This record gives sequence, C-alpha cells and structure tokens, in this order.
Amino acid sequence: MSNLVPPADVDAIAAQVEAAPGLARLRELIGPGADPDTLRAVLEEAARLSAAWLAPLNPVMDREGCRLEGGRVRTAAGHVEAWRAYVEAGWPGIDQPPELGGAGLPLVALAACTEIFDRSSVAFGMAPTGLRAAARLIAAHADEAIKAEWLPRLVSGEWAATICISEADAGSDAGRIRTLAEPDGEGGWRITGEKMWISYGDHDLAPRIGHCLLARTPAAAPGGAGLSLFLVPDVVDGERNAIVIRRLEEKLGLHGSPTCAMGFEGARAWLIGAEGRGLAQLFTMIAPMRLMVSVQGLTVAAGAADVALAYAEERRQGGAPDAPPVPIVEHPDIQRMLADMASRVEAVRVLVLAAAVQADLGRLETDPEARADAAALAGWLLPIAKTYASETGFEVASAAIQVLGGAGYVKDWPVEQSLRDSRVFAIFEGTSGVQALDLLHRRLRREQGRGLRAFLRLARADAALGGDGAADLSLVLELLETSAAALAADPGGDAGAYDLLQLGALAATGWAALRLTRLDRPRLAAAGRWWLTDLKAKAELHAAKIALGAGRLELFEALRRGP
Ligand SMILES: Cc1cc2nc3c(=O)[nH]c(=O)nc-3n(C[C@H](O)[C@H](O)[C@H](O)COP(=O)(O)OP(=O)(O)OC[C@H]3O[C@@H](n4cnc5c(N)ncnc54)[C@H](O)[C@@H]3O)c2cc1C
Repeated sequence: MSNLVPPADVDAIAAQVEAAPGLARLRELIGPGADPDTLRAVLEEAARLSAAWLAPLNPVMDREGCRLEGGRVRTAAGHVEAWRAYVEAGWPGIDQPPELGGAGLPLVALAACTEIFDRSSVAFGMAPTGLRAAARLIAAHADEAIKAEWLPRLVSGEWAATICISEADAGSDAGRIRTLAEPDGEGGWRITGEKMWISYGDHDLAPRIGHCLLARTPAAAPGGAGLSLFLVPDVVDGERNAIVIRRLEEKLGLHGSPTCAMGFEGARAWLIGAEGRGLAQLFTMIAPMRLMVSVQGLTVAAGAADVALAYAEERRQGGAPDAPPVPIVEHPDIQRMLADMASRVEAVRVLVLAAAVQADLGRLETDPEARADAAALAGWLLPIAKTYASETGFEVASAAIQVLGGAGYVKDWPVEQSLRDSRVFAIFEGTSGVQALDLLHRRLRREQGRGLRAFLRLARADAALGGDGAADLSLVLELLETSAAALAADPGGDAGAYDLLQLGALAATGWAALRLTRLDRPRLAAAGRWWLTDLKAKAELHAAKIALGAGRLELFEALRRGP
C-alpha cells in the first residue's frame, strides 16, 4: 500500500466536466477549441506534469518550507525547476486569451486542470492562481501601457503577481486599509504602508513580481469607497523598488507557499483603472481566486477520501476472535464515513464546475437577460462553492484521519498534511462568515435574489424529471426559498446568514447529486444517491436554526460574562 495521495482520476474528472450543467451552451458560445477530445488531452497532459514534477516536490515543500535569505524569499529545493517545467509547458496561460499567447480555455477547464495539479501540491498552485487572476484584472482595468508591458509576460508565466489587500488592522474589513498612495508628480504614485499575509509576496520563481495593491489616496473618503488599485512592481527600471520583506510567516500548513509581511517605503506604483474604484475593480481578480479556493478544498477532500478508502481496504482489525482480523472497510461505521466523504466530494465537484461554467456564461451569453441571469447565478453559487468546498477539504481530511486512526495522525501518511493545508481555505479570500454575509446582503438583498431564483429554476427543472431523491430535493429547495425570504426581511438576519449559506450548499449539492444519479457511471450514480439519502434531514436542521432568529443570541452575554 502506497502512503502517498494517489493521482487524480482523470477519467472521472473528464466525465464530470462533460456533465457540467451549462457546458453545452458554453461550447456553442466559445466555438471550437474546448471540444471533449481537446479537454481530455489537456487533462491528461496536466496529470503527466503533476505526477512528474509536483507529486515529488510536495513533501519537500511541506518539510522545508521557504526561507528568508538576505531579505529575499527562497522556495524549497526543486520548486524553481518544477515552476520552469510548468511555465515551459504553457500552463500559466491556459485560461488566457489566445491573442496574448494563452490557450483560451474556459474556467471550467481551468478548474479541472487545477484540481489535477493541486492534487499533487496545493502550495504550488497558489502562485499560478494569483498570476492568472492578476492578468484578468489588468486586461479589464489597466491602461494600454500597463497591458502591453505586463499581459504577455504574465500569460507566459515569465513574471508573477500577487493580490495585496490585507493589513494588520484591515482583514475582512478592507475599508480600514491605511496604506497610502501619493502622486509622485510625474504621472506615477508612491506607496507607503504595511501589508500582511501576502501569498508569494516574494520568491525566486520569476525575475519580476507585480503587486496588485489596494491603497488610500490622500483626499479619499473613509471606507472602501476611498480605495484605489495600484500595480507595484518589485523591480522598476532594473532597480529594486522600495519594498521590504519584513517577515515570512510560520504556518500550520501550505509550507511551500511563502506568506509575507511586507513594507512599502515610498514604492513606485501605477494606478490601475479609476481612482476610488479600487475595491470594485479588484473583484475581477477576487472572483476567479475564490473559485480556485473552492477547487483547493475539492482536491484536498478528493485526495484524502481516496487515501482513506485504500487504507481501509488493507488495514485489518476486529471480527471474530478465533478468525483472522477483517479489513476495517467491512465495519459499518467505516463504510458510513467513507460513503459520506466520497459522495460529498463528487457532489462538490459538480457544484464547483457549475459555478465555473456560469461565471463564463455571465460574460459570454449573447442575450442580455440570459447574461444577467447567468452572472447572478454565478454570484449566488460562488460564495456557496467557496465556503462549502473549503469546509469539505478540512472536514473530509479530518474524517480521513479518523478512518486511518493513529496512522492518520502521524506524518507517515499524507492526511495530516491535508488537514493542515486545508484549514486556511475557509479563511483566505474571505472567511466563511464574510461569504455568508455576502450571500445575504449582496446576493439576496441588493441583487433582490436574482441568482437564487435562477438557481431554483434550474434545480426544479431537474427535480421535475423525478428519480431517487428528487422529492427530497424539491422539499429542500422549498426550505431554501422560504428561509431566504424570511432572512432577507429580518433586520436580525445576520445571525442566520451562515445557516442560510449551509442550506444553500445542501440545495446546490443535492441538485448536483441528483444529476450524478443519472450518469451512466455506477460509482458516480451511487455517490449521488448516497448524498441524497439524508439531505432533507440536514437541510431541516439549518432551516430550524434560521427560524430560531437572532433572539437566542441574548444568551451570549450571559455566556461570556456570567459566573
Ligand atoms: C496563508 C494565508 C495567505 C493569505 N494570502 C493573502 C494574500 O495573498 N493577499 C491578501 O491580501 N491577504 C491574504 N491573506 C489574508 C486573508 O485574506 C485574511 O486573513 C482574511 O481576509 C481574514 O482577515 P483576518 O485574518 O484579519 O480576520 P478578521 O477579519 O479579523 O476575522 C476574524 C473573524 O471575525 C469574523 N468577522 C470579521 N468581520 C466580521 C463581520 N463584519 N461580521 C461577522 N464576522 C466578522 C471573520 O469571519 C473571522 O471569523 C492570507 C492569509 C493567510 C492565513
């Protein structure tokens, strides 16, 4: 029995991509290039590179981490070479426009490839995700000079990029950012301030890194509306910009991904887009990054579930005392855990791929109403997929440790790393609590539930086709609709926002599971059926908690201060 995470199952992922809701329409819109054979070949190529370069690198990255030498970050042994192989094969530009040298594949293909790469090393995947999202941001909002200089080099992977938002006093609350941007009198800007927790804030993979940074201009209003977006290169005219790496964080997991505290000491910078529009513009970068966090959660969960099943088939404990011990996979409690894990993984994969397809349809649909509906649906699914897939990564990793028992807790087996690596997914790119508020305030109230309505239409159309679990799914959709309406109208709705998100996730994965039951693949169909068996019971719990309202939080004061 190998004690490595086995490679991703390309065949099963390809089948799920082909079954992704909305893919047929997306293919009509993008034309040739994303046909099944091409996608399959791309996934197989990703699997080859992932196995050859990233799987052997992963334990080294986890063990060595990164180090700070002479003020610069050095990555683990072999990381630079693996990055070079990844770049030479053209992977950084897979989703970028062909006219810039990219492959022009849709987000759903990027999500599937990212799952295959991240399966070998999530920490490695943090770098290309930032770079691709930065290219999207620059393409959408920067001036022609910045585009001409940066886009071809980001798409080729020659240069790198970061997202640079967080500060000590500005995490979830980006409106509190204090980093200052002042005009330099020559058409550029100078940035002064301290940024925290910047992933790949410095490294030795590329000769130039562009920081996509939020800062406040001198006369700006307080809050998010006063923020502007800047490109701050670490090298300008061949000289190092005034950026200091203050510290490299020591973390629970993702050791191979450097997380930097950074000082900007009057660093030269260029405005991206319009002054005061920084936060709104940055969502062009944040949205695909959140989608890729959902892929991270999915891939860690899928790997941990596979390790757990393989272990359970080999490990022998229990059975009659006068007979040899039985494989633990024969115990109902182990079967319960393995079925929960595997079915959750498969349903979450449909959810993630569906969110990716809708994000592209929200840009590409030709009819304005259809485009707005797809964009609203993508907006509804994104916080759900980001949160639920992130939590799936951690919870399935934890369940895998339970299946392995003591072996799961020690470093001989990879699931303890899965648990460590995945804990942050529900924190960065917006915590679960913040995603839940996004769902309530933005998607339900500000956008008046358009995305939810689009989701209910799709899911009800599938439920109407009947089959095992369809009736239960219909009830869950009903619960979601009534709970959402009640919460949207409730001034104390914040107290139920997280349960609403969980209810939304159960409705979405229930819809996904029903679609799985109809596939001509017995394993995926069984996963779908298992997921639907207790969907209603789980959904009723969240609906009941929402109905309890904010009133019970009065008890919290006594909890925190009482004798
Ligand atoms: C490994 C790692 C990599 C990172 N990479 C980057 C990066 O590349 N770039 C970058 O800019 N940042 C990065 N971050 C920072 C990350 O985005 C923040 O940690 C995250 O946004 C949360 O901010 P915070 O840690 O300050 O938590 P806080 O904002 O202090 O939140 C703490 C808790 O309070 C809750 N909370 C906060 N505000 C509210 C509210 N209004 N209502 C209800 N609950 C609330 C949160 O949900 C959370 O549970 C990274 C962090 C880590 C750990």
